[in-house]
Amino acid sequence: MKDENMTEKRKTGWIFQLISIIFCLSLIIGCSKKKDETSEEEKPAAAPVIPAIPAQPVPSFNADQAFADMKTQVADGPRVPNTAAHEKVVHWLYDQLITCTQNVNIQTFRFPGYPNGDTLHLTNVIASFNPSATWRVLIVTHFDSRPWADEDPDSLKHDKPIPAANDGASGVGVMLELARLMKDSMPPIGVDLFFDDGEDYGKFDIDKLDRYFLGVKHFVRTKPAGYAPRFAILLDMVGDTNADFEPEYNSVQSGLTYVNEVWNTAKSLKLKHFNNLRQTNIEDDHLPLIEAGIPSVDIIDGDLVGHQSSDPNRKYWHTLDDLPKHLSRETMGEVGKLLLTLIYQQLPQDVPKL
Ligand SMILES: [Zn+2]
Repeated sequence: MKDENMTEKRKTGWIFQLISIIFCLSLIIGCSKKKDETSEEEKPAAAPVIPAIPAQPVPSFNADQAFADMKTQVADGPRVPNTAAHEKVVHWLYDQLITCTQNVNIQTFRFPGYPNGDTLHLTNVIASFNPSATWRVLIVTHFDSRPWADEDPDSLKHDKPIPAANDGASGVGVMLELARLMKDSMPPIGVDLFFDDGEDYGKFDIDKLDRYFLGVKHFVRTKPAGYAPRFAILLDMVGDTNADFEPEYNSVQSGLTYVNEVWNTAKSLKLKHFNNLRQTNIEDDHLPLIEAGIPSVDIIDGDLVGHQSSDPNRKYWHTLDDLPKHLSRETMGEVGKLLLTLIYQQLPQDVPKL
């Protein structure tokens, strides 16, 4: 038993030695062959191949919850800077978001208001999901309410703040529901939800766009140099019962690929409020982002701006009639479903192409 074992061991040892020698020889031959190939052809290094990110199941958007969140904001009163309702909505946003992610960033800043000498106290709220992902999309909406209903048919109401059900609260409602779903199912790409302040403060006849888009302007001024989302999606007035979302001119100029990505996905989902028959042209929160080099897609119900729609129920932009009665769960549900499909399915698959 002993000897046989010794013999067997020696035999096995010899075989291993032989295999090792052959393996080493093949390594040497392999190395020298590789060397020869390189020197013969001098190939330039190939561009790195960016693999697609695996898609994930798309969570189901709860439009009832998004609609309820829209109504909660309106019930608390217009969220005009320097008012109690404004302060309350900031706390409410933080409380909602911090239960979904520990990465909630608050930016406070000041800006001169009207009349001269007044100081606005403003706050941006940014919630990040999958923070280590380098391929990121930034989703933006404003939560502030316009302090003056200067498009109201009754000129006596021009100094009153608007309820901002659609022009503010609708986008917030959609994005809060995204946050809840991303808490339960981490998105395959990085997503930053940016609730921005001071979007709708300005008076165009006094100083053009100087006091609009204040939150986004502050964001791009102070963002870390390394922060470079692939593109941004802006939500503005995304809840009207008869909403009509068309590609927007400045968005197309900044990144047609991304506009197509959004509208093609809407088409594949057969969303009835999205069409690409014509373009709108809107000055909105996306302009400072585009200037900062971030291609941006504005999803906005452009016909509402300037009361261009022929529908009498769609003439409430910047009036005291911007109320929940004009909004529907169904429209907000379409926007939510579109964003979720982009985040979990479409964008991950298209990462190499974008
Ligand atoms: Zn507005």
